[in-house]
Amino acid sequence: MTDRVYLDHAATTPLDPAVLEAMRPALLDSWGNASSLHREGGAARDLLESSRERVAAALGVEADELLFTSGGTESDNLALFGVARAARDARGASRLLVSAIEHHAVLHPAEELAREGFTLELLPVGPDGRVAPELTALDDVALVSVMAANNEVGSVQPIAALGAACQAAGVPLHTDAVQWIGRVLDETGQPARLGDLPIALASLSGHKLYGPKGVGALVVRRGVKLRPLLFGGSHEGERRPGTENVAGAVGLAEALERVMAEAAREVPRQAALRDRLREGVAARIPEVVFNTPAEGPRLPHILNVSFRHVEGEALLLALNARGVAVATGSACTSESLEPSHVLQALGRPVELAQGSLRFSLGRATTEADIERTLDALEQVVGGLRALSPLYG
Ligand code: PLP
Repeated sequence: MTDRVYLDHAATTPLDPAVLEAMRPALLDSWGNASSLHREGGAARDLLESSRERVAAALGVEADELLFTSGGTESDNLALFGVARAARDARGASRLLVSAIEHHAVLHPAEELAREGFTLELLPVGPDGRVAPELTALDDVALVSVMAANNEVGSVQPIAALGAACQAAGVPLHTDAVQWIGRVLDETGQPARLGDLPIALASLSGHKLYGPKGVGALVVRRGVKLRPLLFGGSHEGERRPGTENVAGAVGLAEALERVMAEAAREVPRQAALRDRLREGVAARIPEVVFNTPAEGPRLPHILNVSFRHVEGEALLLALNARGVAVATGSACTSESLEPSHVLQALGRPVELAQGSLRFSLGRATTEADIERTLDALEQVVGGLRALSPLYG
C-alpha cells in the first residue's frame, strides 16, 4: 500500500506486525481452551490472565475489573443493556441519559432500551461537539453514557466533571473510550489513564489500536451491577460467556502497551500534522467549514471538514481514485445516505453535513502524506465544483 495515503485510522488501523508476532504462540502453541482443567487449558488460561493483567495495568484499573469482549460494539451493548436492566431491577430506575453524538453502538442499544420502557434523554452538544459538563436532576437515572472522544469530529468530552456529578448522585457513568485510549495526554505529557477517570464502565476496541479485529474489552469498576447480555458458560466471571479468544486478548495487550508507550511522542506529532492539514485546507480551498473544534480538548488524529456545494461521497470516491483513503463520517454509516447524526447534533445544516469528509491520521502518517492529500483535495474539490450547477 506504499502508493496509497491512508487517512482513515478512526475506522480501523493496520495490524502492527509485532502484535501478530506476540499472538502467534497463543494460536499455535497455547491453543487449549482456557476453561479446561488440563495442562493445555492451563497454558491458555495463563496467557489469558497475564493479558488481562497487562491490559488492566496499561489502563490503570484492576485485572478483575476487565472483561474481554468481541470489540467496541459488544462492550457498548453489554454496558448499556447490562447496567440499565440491573438498575431497573435493583432500584426501579427508568431514565437513560446518552449524548446525542454517541456511536451507533451506544445509540441503537439505547433506542432498543427505550422500546423496552426506559425513557431516553439525549444530551445535546454545542457547536464545538462537547456536552455541557454539568449534570443535574439525576433522579431515577439508570445509566449515563457519554463517549470520551467522538469518532467523527474528534471532540473530547468533560468526563471528569460528568463522572463527579454521577458519582455524587450514585449513578453509573459509561464512557465509550474506543477513540480516546492512547490518544489523549494528561497534564504531565503522559497518556491519560482510564483508571484515573471517575467512570463506572468503559469500552475499548483492539482494531483501533493497531491490534486485531474482533477483540475488545469492557472495564467494569468494582461494585457496578451488570446483568449479562449473553447466556451460556461461566466465563469472564459469569458476565460474558463463550470460549475465550486468548490470541485476541494477547493481541489487545500487546497493541495497547505499544500505543501507550509511543503516545507521548505520537500525540503531538499527529496533532501537528492535523493542524498542517487544517491550515492547508483553509488556505487552498474556499468555502469550507471545519467541524472539528479549532481548540480545546480534541483528538490529535481527526479532522472533519465540510466542503460547500459538493457531496462527501463524490469527494471520497475521487480522492480514492487518486490514492487517498478518507471517510465521509463514521465507517458504519458510510453505506447510508442519511447525513451524519453527529454533524446534525452540532447544528450543521443537512447540505453541509452531506458535504463532509473525515480525515484520520495514524502512526505511519507523514508530512508528505498530508501534502499529497492537500494537492489531491484541491483538484477534486475544484473539479467537482466546476461541474456543480450550485457553484460559481
Ligand atoms: N465506538 C466508537 C467510538 C467507534 O469509533 C467504534 C468503531 O468505529 C465502535 C464503538 C465500534 O467498535 P468495534 O468496531 O470494535 O465494534
